[in-house]
Amino acid sequence: MPIYEYACQECGTKFEKLIRRQADLDDLTCPSCGESRLARQLSTFAPQMGASKSPAPAMCPSGGMCPTPGKCGMN
Ligand SMILES: [Zn+2]
Repeated sequence: MPIYEYACQECGTKFEKLIRRQADLDDLTCPSCGESRLARQLSTFAPQMGASKSPAPAMCPSGGMCPTPGKCGMN
C-alpha cells in the first residue's frame, strides 16, 4: 500500500498519508491547519535525486572472471 508524503502549501507542515482508495485523496487535508492545498512529495522509498552517491565499485573488466587476479589492476 502506498504511503505518500505531502507538504501543506499553506503552513508547510509535512505529513505522510496511507492512501488506500480515491476517497482518502479526496478528504486529504493538512492535519495542522486543515488546508486542502497539498503538494505531494516524492515517495520516501524512492531514491533521492542528487543525493551523494558512492561511486560504483571498481570491477575487473572481465566481470569477475579474471584469469590473472592482480594483473588487471583491479584486485
Ligand atoms: Zn497546513
